[in-house]
Amino acid sequence: MIVMKFGGTSVANCEAITRMVSIVGSKLEERPVVVVSALSKVTDSLYRICDFAQAQNEAGAMECLEQLRNRHLSLARELMEGKLQLKEEAEGKVNGIFDTLKSLVCAVCSLGELSDRVKARIISSGEYLSSNIICFAMNAKGIKTNFIDAGTMIITSDDYLKGEPDMDRICEIVPGKVAEAYSGVDAVITQGFVAAAGDGTRTVLGRGGSDYTASLIGMAIDAKRIEIWTDVDGVHTADPRRVENTRSLKRISFEEAAEMAYFGAKVLHPLTIEPAVDKDIPIYVLDSLNPSACGTAILHDSAIEEGVKSISCKENILVINIFSPKMINTFGFLDKVFDIFKEHKVSVDLISTSEANISLTVEAGQNINGVVKDLSDFAEVHVVEGKSQVSVIGKNVINIKGLFKNIFGSLLQYKIYMISQGATAINLSFVIDRQSLDGVMKQLHKLLFE
Ligand code: ADP
Ligand code: ASP
Ligand code: MG
Repeated sequence: MIVMKFGGTSVANCEAITRMVSIVGSKLEERPVVVVSALSKVTDSLYRICDFAQAQNEAGAMECLEQLRNRHLSLARELMEGKLQLKEEAEGKVNGIFDTLKSLVCAVCSLGELSDRVKARIISSGEYLSSNIICFAMNAKGIKTNFIDAGTMIITSDDYLKGEPDMDRICEIVPGKVAEAYSGVDAVITQGFVAAAGDGTRTVLGRGGSDYTASLIGMAIDAKRIEIWTDVDGVHTADPRRVENTRSLKRISFEEAAEMAYFGAKVLHPLTIEPAVDKDIPIYVLDSLNPSACGTAILHDSAIEEGVKSISCKENILVINIFSPKMINTFGFLDKVFDIFKEHKVSVDLISTSEANISLTVEAGQNINGVVKDLSDFAEVHVVEGKSQVSVIGKNVINIKGLFKNIFGSLLQYKIYMISQGATAINLSFVIDRQSLDGVMKQLHKLLFE
């Protein structure tokens, strides 16, 4: 069996879905489990609807909702052209999902309150809509397909907006669910991103989480391969939307891919690699617009050559400087600091310490008020905004002779704030001013790859 995950742009409209269905159709003998994201930009709209509803702007929420309904209904009609019964069933399904969504949104509008639990229900609707429509479309195009509700098999903690998967339960449940759904059909389809807590309450896996769903299913069914179909022909030397002249990498290691994703490469959700590593399942990143391109294979480390593979970046980060003379010659100071980050669920990227000072970076957008307040009880804290983080990633890069000299020598005109190299020799990261990011990325890409 294989897992094939299609992201938002790969299922954006009738043309994209038709292409996607034919890609799946060409692999039926490998018994695909198809995982789909919401149509392109739909999850963003659902977040916007949540904001409108919470602000009690019912007119705004309803307008946005009706636009989404029309987009999905027209898509269903276009895909099921000439198949009257399937078309009616698909329309019924879409309307049913929107009716439920509408009553949820109305309730939020009248209360002006939005719990994470209700928000997870609203934002997960995009995947239910796309997976239902695509399931009908596959059947309409002659691929007999069964539908699985991911909420019955991807079990997580009750962190509704970023559920932590329960690996044991997932491995226990998924194979049975997939086998059951596979009786008498050519393929099965389910939603990415969507999951449920142990008591059945809907959760989601966090933004971009459909990749993670694919690898969790891959792990649970011992898939031969996990395919991530997206809008680029593989993992590139840098984000092609940010840097010119990037190229696709033939193969990279699990560790390199995980590091790239953690340090900003949006092409994969950062947690995608972990379940695949455990079972040594290769992941392929492939281009749904150009299915015959070879894409990138993400494989076991031993199959991968050393060297710089890619430059990732996080455009908007905060540097938190913590100063305390109490840190000198004491035990447990760092412990105390990191406990506070843990308690407030703020994740830290880079760290560097000196005698009485700790500097660390966190991605902007996380709520750090509580962290700053608690740290201020025993230390002086300064938060610096307007910075970006750049990471040069590749197997054993830290040991490449002259690399530091070449990198920092080529960036003499830019101010570098913090430098950090990982213990695994795979990553060299540093912090710069946000307005320097484009120049630095361009310069580095030229130096390392052109
Ligand atoms: P999907 O909707 O298929 O999940 P995403 O938008 O989440 O797609 O991820 C694909 C995007 O990731 C690409 O369009 C590209 O702009 C971005 N990206 C960032 N870094 C890289 C990289 N190193 N290689 C390829 N794509 C990258
Ligand atoms: N639709 C979700 C999002 O936009 C999950 C995904 O596409 O991977 O974040
Ligand atoms: Mg994605």
